[in-house]
Amino acid sequence: SNNLLAGKRGLIMGVANDKSIAWGIAQACADAGAELAFSYMGDNFKKRVEPLAASLGVTQLFDCDVGSEESIDACFKGVEEAWGRLDFLVHAIGFSDKNELRGRYVDTSRDNFKMTMDVSVYSFTAVAQRAEKLMTDGGSMLTLTYYGAEQVMPHYNVMGVAKAALEASVMYLAEDLGKDNIRVNAISAGPIKTLAASGIGDFRYILKWNELNSPLRRNVTQEEVGKAALFLLSDLGSGTTGETLHVDSGYHVVGMKAVDAPDI
Ligand code: NAD
Repeated sequence: SNNLLAGKRGLIMGVANDKSIAWGIAQACADAGAELAFSYMGDNFKKRVEPLAASLGVTQLFDCDVGSEESIDACFKGVEEAWGRLDFLVHAIGFSDKNELRGRYVDTSRDNFKMTMDVSVYSFTAVAQRAEKLMTDGGSMLTLTYYGAEQVMPHYNVMGVAKAALEASVMYLAEDLGKDNIRVNAISAGPIKTLAASGIGDFRYILKWNELNSPLRRNVTQEEVGKAALFLLSDLGSGTTGETLHVDSGYHVVGMKAVDAPDI
């Protein structure tokens, strides 16, 4: 354990279960001495999140559907009533119809395009609006993205388009909020087996491909994303904003399959 976030208060949005990337980040933040609040979506998730929260001594839990302005307002009102202010925010939320996370991007429907952009992109801006008001002493905001924003990945489809927009919004938010010493960054995580990832077609193949072809020749863990998040959320990251940091075993630098990589 360390004191990198001692005395800091942070809201973590997107813990669904103990496989969630948000859970890896929450553990790293708790280990660094932060006081945490969690938001979860609906009663089904509440049952799974409550024991996880309790294991870290987290008592502030808020129901928040980021597709609803009222729900976001209620969540941030809860944070304000509990703490009055906020030091950091983690947005680890994304959603799309899994029927469109396979097959062709060109077949994406208008309804799912809008819904995916709303829940996976606009929601970060929506929560940044509320968090800004509570970050009266500067702050750090973090979201999660994927390489499918930069290059075409099989089955990622509309989610890749959404992540490209999310990464662009990180840059615009960084500019707007930088004057108040609020930093805004993204982590581009390599593939990790989570609930959301299980909706992506052939996800096991993607995992295997990354394992065999990334410079580190393995996949990353929730814990490793947690450690990188700690850098961006704490004073260690004080000079970094508007950045998308890859935590992907280096996969994003590979231009061609290595000669020693087996065929799969
Ligand atoms: P996860 O399923 O554990 O987390 C996704 C979360 O989004 C869940 O907690 C879910 O409740 C929440 N969510 C969905 N719709 C919501 C809504 N309307 N309101 C509030 N919450 C909502 O999966 P994860 O892989 O940990 O995903 C977290 C983030 O990491 C996502 O943005 C995902 O795109 C990103 N990411 C994942 C991977 C991966 O391989 N798992 C790689 C790169 C980036």
